[in-house]
Amino acid sequence: MMGYQICSCCVMDTSDPDIIFDDQGVCNHCKGAKKKLRKIEVQRRNFDIDAFSAKVKTAGKGKKYDCIVGISGGVDSCYVMYLVKKMGLRPLAVHIDNGWDSELAVQNIKNLLEKLEIDLYTYVVDWQEFRSLQLAFFRASTPDCEIPTDHMIFPVMGMMAHKYKCKYIIMGHNNASESILPHSWSQGHFDWHYIRSVYKMYGDNSHGLKSFPYFSRPDYDYFTRKFIWFDILDYIDYNKENAKKFLQENYEWRDYGGKHYESFYTRFYQTYILPVKFGYDKRRMHLSSLIAAGQMSRSEALEVLKTPPYDDSTIERDIEYFLEKMQITREEFDKIMSSKPLHYEDYPNNENDLTGKIIKKLSKMFGGGNDQ
Ligand SMILES: [Zn+2]
Repeated sequence: MMGYQICSCCVMDTSDPDIIFDDQGVCNHCKGAKKKLRKIEVQRRNFDIDAFSAKVKTAGKGKKYDCIVGISGGVDSCYVMYLVKKMGLRPLAVHIDNGWDSELAVQNIKNLLEKLEIDLYTYVVDWQEFRSLQLAFFRASTPDCEIPTDHMIFPVMGMMAHKYKCKYIIMGHNNASESILPHSWSQGHFDWHYIRSVYKMYGDNSHGLKSFPYFSRPDYDYFTRKFIWFDILDYIDYNKENAKKFLQENYEWRDYGGKHYESFYTRFYQTYILPVKFGYDKRRMHLSSLIAAGQMSRSEALEVLKTPPYDDSTIERDIEYFLEKMQITREEFDKIMSSKPLHYEDYPNNENDLTGKIIKKLSKMFGGGNDQ
């Protein structure tokens, strides 16, 4: 069994069971991130922002909006809003309210969009149904508790682009702050088969998933063919700290104290459920991404990691709030927290279902292997 080891270059460590170190003690994530960032650097050099905005404007001629832009309230998506407006585009901001927005997030979105004069559409989930799906993932004991939210972003953005006949969907994902994501820490975001299976086993089947926005493989093909999904921050020189300061100074934007903490659920899941139950501290991947992008030093990151992921003085209150909203007892919560961690592979999914297995076997038999 591998002993404890931390990368000599970033702060990823053996809490990722799949991590690989070279002779210098540098991990596979650093290498993967550098490769991605090199590719993005070339992309950025060749990007002509004026030509891009002209294309979006042409495609949006005569339409109410020329692009759909997702907004969570976090620094990345807020900065994208500012950027597209500065480019002279006419965006519709689309926000997903999954029931866990912090008051601060709501305020930040409101302040920004009012000042920028951008219309907002908020997709509000059917709370009882969504709660049951989130609870199903918590009960399934996999680290994939954010999948219900992450999965629906794609179809919600697609639906709005379809409604307003917009070709362009602009998002705030970026490799400057998100280049590292250990596979074992979360899987199956695009796997409707997996989501449905977990819900069937642990969700409220008397209700069923009637309104949850999902997509299957053919839907995915349609959405990617029909619309242009554009992660604009990967095309500009994006620095998260600078963006934060800029938004604070110009748009009354206020910080949440952590990446994705604009949502209570995400903060609680990242700072408590993941580290306590699974031993995964997501700050490691966020900080390591910033190190890879040259936006933070390793010693600064190590300083941050010296503090516990959650606040000891408020955690009991947070747990109580979580129990109340999720409508579960403390006994059940404690039982789930101490039960054996499971993973994507332990549930029916697109990779391991019978059809998938047969296709794999057939392709091996008839020469579809990697050695061809
Ligand atoms: Zn590393």
